[in-house]
Amino acid sequence: FSNYRKLIAGIDTKVPLSNSRYSTAINFDNAATTPPLLPVLEEIIKFSPWYASVHRGAGYKSQYSSQLYEDARSIVADYVGANLTHHTVIFVKNTTEAINKLSNRLLSSYGDAVVLSTCMEHHSNDLPWRNKYQVDYIDIDQEGKLSIEDLQEKLRQYRGKVKLVTITGASNVTGYKNPIHEIAQLVHEYGAEILVDGAQLVPHAPVNMKSPDDPRHIDYLAFSGHKMYAPFGTGVLIGSKKAFKKGAPDYTGGGTVQLVTHQHIQWLDPPLKEEAGTQNVMGVVAMSKAIKILKDIGMEEIEDYERGLTAYTLKQLSRLPHLQLYVDRRHVHDRVSIIPFNIKDMPHDLVANILSQEAGIAVRSGCFCAHPYIQRLLNVPQDEMQKRIEDPTLPHPGVVRVSYGFYNTYQEIDILINTLHKILNNKKALIEKYQNNPHV
Ligand code: PMP
Repeated sequence: FSNYRKLIAGIDTKVPLSNSRYSTAINFDNAATTPPLLPVLEEIIKFSPWYASVHRGAGYKSQYSSQLYEDARSIVADYVGANLTHHTVIFVKNTTEAINKLSNRLLSSYGDAVVLSTCMEHHSNDLPWRNKYQVDYIDIDQEGKLSIEDLQEKLRQYRGKVKLVTITGASNVTGYKNPIHEIAQLVHEYGAEILVDGAQLVPHAPVNMKSPDDPRHIDYLAFSGHKMYAPFGTGVLIGSKKAFKKGAPDYTGGGTVQLVTHQHIQWLDPPLKEEAGTQNVMGVVAMSKAIKILKDIGMEEIEDYERGLTAYTLKQLSRLPHLQLYVDRRHVHDRVSIIPFNIKDMPHDLVANILSQEAGIAVRSGCFCAHPYIQRLLNVPQDEMQKRIEDPTLPHPGVVRVSYGFYNTYQEIDILINTLHKILNNKKALIEKYQNNPHV
């Protein structure tokens, strides 16, 4: 895979270290966002002669850019096994917008239904459902994995009332993948639908929504382009055309209508109806190029390679004393390349700061927009959380997270492990040096 490093924008960027030297930046924060691919940036330049808004102009440029924009829907659909005779591919700005849109759009057909979310969700797949539906959360087990027993129990408990189970494809905290097709089958048996938050899954593993005749199919899928080597600003929501045909879109305005009088609005069919205003055409063209490259490399190959990186890291980390891993170190299958840990008696943000200043390693620390999940993984009692609600100046509990992309290497992981050794061997001195000394 080392050949693919040349595809990554900024792969050789040097960052300053605290010893006044410079080092090549190591990016272990791919769960937050991935760097764009150089051919993707080139695609944006190639598109620029055709820059024109879509579905509005009669000129050649507008027609050509409309064509590229519509082609992108097929590229996206093909990538995740959606079928454009049944499905609609709606372009949005990110996963958060996709899930908010769906939560608004389902209101009219779901009424006062129960929506089952889980205890391992990113806030973007939790908060949009609150205050619109009755929400309950499927539990996790001791290791932080989703409890299928609790899902079954809740489906039974709310029989006939559950309309949607909304679940992450892979956790942005532990990297655990959920058995989405097994869950889909169960959910369908109870007459409900399933949304998969694919933000962390779609960039790292093959995904197939499957035909709607298959009981294991996924009804709705959401994901973000910026986590799959495209620039910021594009995301995708896929669902059946039927689900979006009914009713008014959540955002209304230009581009959503067939005909308007002061008394009447005739909506366009999805997806256009759901994409109010001028679309992010360049972003979509860029995302479709990123998808083509991921497909050329091969999603199975990417998953295998990243699994190797993860297994190696788990093995190395579990050998370090005073290091607490928050995932099962034997669990190397059914996961994406995200690993959360802490060094005992050291704040998570300080460890992240030292990794950056000592070795140029970018990780993330904190709660990663998944506060309830982190509280459970760290066993933070509810009264501790209550204290923080009352006094926002108290430090938040959290963990250090490394997350890989297909361009990361074993050598980079060795640098991480060596730096962690250094931290463990010089804890006191490093705490003194860095605790009030941010990198920038
Ligand atoms: N869901 C998961 C699992 C995520 O990891 C993220 C991003 N961290 C999101 C949703 C939200 O993605 P975005 O910020 O692109 O909307």
